[in-house]
Amino acid sequence: MSNQKKKLLFTRQEMFELNKKMLQKRGVSIEAIAEISYMQQAKYSDNVSRSICIESVEKILSLRDVFHHVQLAAEIDRLAEEKMFQGPIQDIILEDLGLFGVDETLGLDVSGLYGTIGQTNFGDIDVNKHGIVKRLNDAGKEEGICHTFLDDIVGAIAAAASTRVAQVVNEDLAHEDADVKRFSIFDL
Ligand code: MG
Repeated sequence: MSNQKKKLLFTRQEMFELNKKMLQKRGVSIEAIAEISYMQQAKYSDNVSRSICIESVEKILSLRDVFHHVQLAAEIDRLAEEKMFQGPIQDIILEDLGLFGVDETLGLDVSGLYGTIGQTNFGDIDVNKHGIVKRLNDAGKEEGICHTFLDDIVGAIAAAASTRVAQVVNEDLAHEDADVKRFSIFDL
């Protein structure tokens, strides 16, 4: 038996890098996710920049829960592509059955990270399939490609980032009236 210790815990920097690498491997860039957040939030405020959207996606990708979600979602899709599941679930996942909702359940969990409106944002992305989510969804229909879980996790990250942007913009507005120093424990 090997004495090698199993690695279960990763630093936030490591989790960010591993998530970024996994998404890249599956054809998803941070910029593409941030673009959806920008599209969702720019219509509400002139203070929304692409850089705050990218920063929000990056921050979310460094969180432990999100790390577990991204890694699991991408692996489920890969295993389905390689026909590694046994029983009916293999084809249900590979064919992305409309009534299969476990992928959305995982997405909903992530999308609410910065507040309930994240779940509304996620619903919008899920139904209207913006940008990278549409590209993943379309590509997933091709033979041998499965994006059943990835499209939802990517949509959920965009929705959570979108919500974080709204929280940051509103925190800034609140500070215009309150002349107080910002403390790091309140960082969003
Ligand atoms: Mg899906």
